[in-house]
Amino acid sequence: MNRHYLAFATIAVSTLSFSACISQHQASKEQLTDTSVAVMASQDNHSSHHPKWSYEGSTGTEYWGDVEGASTCKTGKQQSPINITKVTSSSAAMPVMDYAKSTDVRIHDNGHTVVYTPTTENNAIILDNERYVLKQFHYHTPSEHQFGSQNYPGEIHFVHANSEGNLAVVGVMLKIGEANSMLHVLLDGTEITTQNDDEFTANDVDLSTLTPVMATFYHYSGSLTTPPCSEKVQWYVNKQPLTLTSDQFKIMSDLYEGNNRPIQPQGSRKVEQLSN
Ligand SMILES: [Zn+2]
Repeated sequence: MNRHYLAFATIAVSTLSFSACISQHQASKEQLTDTSVAVMASQDNHSSHHPKWSYEGSTGTEYWGDVEGASTCKTGKQQSPINITKVTSSSAAMPVMDYAKSTDVRIHDNGHTVVYTPTTENNAIILDNERYVLKQFHYHTPSEHQFGSQNYPGEIHFVHANSEGNLAVVGVMLKIGEANSMLHVLLDGTEITTQNDDEFTANDVDLSTLTPVMATFYHYSGSLTTPPCSEKVQWYVNKQPLTLTSDQFKIMSDLYEGNNRPIQPQGSRKVEQLSN
C-alpha cells in the first residue's frame, strides 16, 4: 500500500492533535487554516507510510505508547474505542447534520486505511450552534466500537473539526444487507485508486446518503483511535448501522482487515444516549 507520490508533511501540534493519517493528508492540501497547526517540516514518504506503528507485531497496538509523541496511547484515561454497554439518557443536543448534496471526494490509501477527503468544506455537523466541518472519513474492519461486546463487520469514521481544531467524530457501523449506491461510487474509486497506485477523485458524491437515520447516538468523550491517541474527540456513534452488500464490503476488507484498535477501558466515563 505504499505510495511514492505523496509528500509526507509532519505537523507540530500545540492545541490540536490529529492522528497522523488525518494530519498528513490535510496538511498536504493545506485545508487546515488553524493557526495552531504549523507545518514544521516535510519529508518524502517514499518507502512507507507510518512505519512506526501498525496493528500487529512489534509495532502493534500494545506498543503505540512507545511511538514518539504518542505516550497518551499508554497513559491516557479517556481512550477510544470502547465497548458501549450501559448508557445514560441525556437531554443534550443532538448533532445536526448539514451535509451537501454534491461533493467531490479525493480517495487515497494511507497505509492504515483508505481516506476519503472532501475537496470542499460544505459538509458539517452542528453541535451547540458550533459548526464542525467534515475533514475526512475512513473505515475500520471490523468495527472499533462494540455494542454489548459485539463488533460489526466494519465502522466508518466521519471526522469533523471546529475552528479551534476540536474534533467530533461520527461513527457509523457497517452491516451486510442492502446495497448502498453512493458507497458504490466511492468503492469504484477506491479500486481505481489502489489498482493504479494513485489518487482518484469521485465527483458529485451525496455524502448524506452515507449517514443512516440520525435518530440515536451514543455520545462520550474519547480519543483518536490511532497514534498519537489524543484525547480531543467527542464521539457520536450512530446506533443505526449502514448496510452494504457483501461484495461491497469485500472491496473494503480485501484492502484492510484488522485495522481496529482493541477496546479501551471506559473508566469513569459515561456514555450518553442522545435521541430525537
Ligand atoms: Zn478511525
